[in-house]
Amino acid sequence: MQIREMDSTYVAHTYGRASLLAEQGSGAVVYDETGKKYIDLGSGIGVNAFGVADSVWTQAVTAQLTKLQHLSNLYHTAPQAQLAALLCEKTGMKKVFFGNSGAEANECLIKCARKYSHDKYGEGRATIVTLLNSFHGRTMATLSATGQDSLHEHFGPFLPGFVYTPANDFAAMEKALSDSSVCAVLMELVQGEGGVIALDKDFVQKTAALCAEKDILFAVDEVQTGNGRTGSLYAWMQYGVTPDLFSTAKGLGGGLPIGACLMGEKCADTLQPGTHGSTFGGNPVCCAGAISVVERLDDALMAQVREKGDYIRAALTGAPGVKSLSGLGLMIGIETEKDAGEIVAACIEQGVIVLKAHEKVRLLPPLNIGMAEIDEALAILKGVLAK
Ligand SMILES: *Cc1c(COP(=O)(O)O)cnc(C)c1O
Repeated sequence: MQIREMDSTYVAHTYGRASLLAEQGSGAVVYDETGKKYIDLGSGIGVNAFGVADSVWTQAVTAQLTKLQHLSNLYHTAPQAQLAALLCEKTGMKKVFFGNSGAEANECLIKCARKYSHDKYGEGRATIVTLLNSFHGRTMATLSATGQDSLHEHFGPFLPGFVYTPANDFAAMEKALSDSSVCAVLMELVQGEGGVIALDKDFVQKTAALCAEKDILFAVDEVQTGNGRTGSLYAWMQYGVTPDLFSTAKGLGGGLPIGACLMGEKCADTLQPGTHGSTFGGNPVCCAGAISVVERLDDALMAQVREKGDYIRAALTGAPGVKSLSGLGLMIGIETEKDAGEIVAACIEQGVIVLKAHEKVRLLPPLNIGMAEIDEALAILKGVLAK
């Protein structure tokens, strides 16, 4: 049986898969089984921070892999402790919980926010306010947190205690936070799956300030925006706010599954032994890869991410077939005249991998993509957008 046929026969049909059969790659280039080359502006949905088979990352991962692949969270391992220390040092957060995905990072965040409030105020203060058009994951709790009706069909009843309010509408946020049952606000600073929409700084800052006033935890979902994607280590660093806790995943592991919930001063000691856990969370191989990623996300690289993002935006602004551009750093949304799905398919046909986010084309290239690769991909993308 051919691979595509096997896939469609035996793998659950939860994905609208393109026919591309990826075999190998290097950096921002991926090859299919016939040897056809693709420039990758998707990074496996923002996961391969330094592209495919990056030598520094591969070395870090394989060195750990040949020593110890797992022993569980009943014991200490160096990579997990070192990654937690590195993340805290770089963000000012105080504690880290490791899971294996963005959804799990958000599950921890939700539990931590509710327990913080329960410990301090008792029952009846467990509501989490999230934004309309948000995306927080596919598990039942994170789907409940997600403010998109289209994703809520079929799966009810949902976890109670989530209220959605429109992005960038501070009056609506004030109204939502006037309810005494609210314990936390959770938001993406650039809504990713929702169409690459960067929130207004003013709205974010006012919301964070109001949260602080009411001892409502201000939580940020940095699963997609985090780890250098937007041109700062975490997007909140550009928004002039400090969250009480935040989640991250995708780019953190550089291609291996890892998620993290980082907790600041207020809720650093909220989760105690027995309150939360994960068998695989903080796996030493994943953590070794993540250390090698986070260590490289320095100021010089962040400046390059911003410059490359600006360069791509400038090249596409006013280009035929482009209606508007959105996003931050190397997280780019393109509102197109043609159907985004058709553009994605035509780009793949011509050797460029791009993504969709709602009705937009979305670009999440590797953070270290070369200028020559950007130019080559842009020439093809522009041709497709214009036709
Ligand atoms: C992708 C994503 C998630 C879910 O991450 P998984 O690793 O797929 O569970 C959650 N929040 C945001 C903002 C995301 O982009």
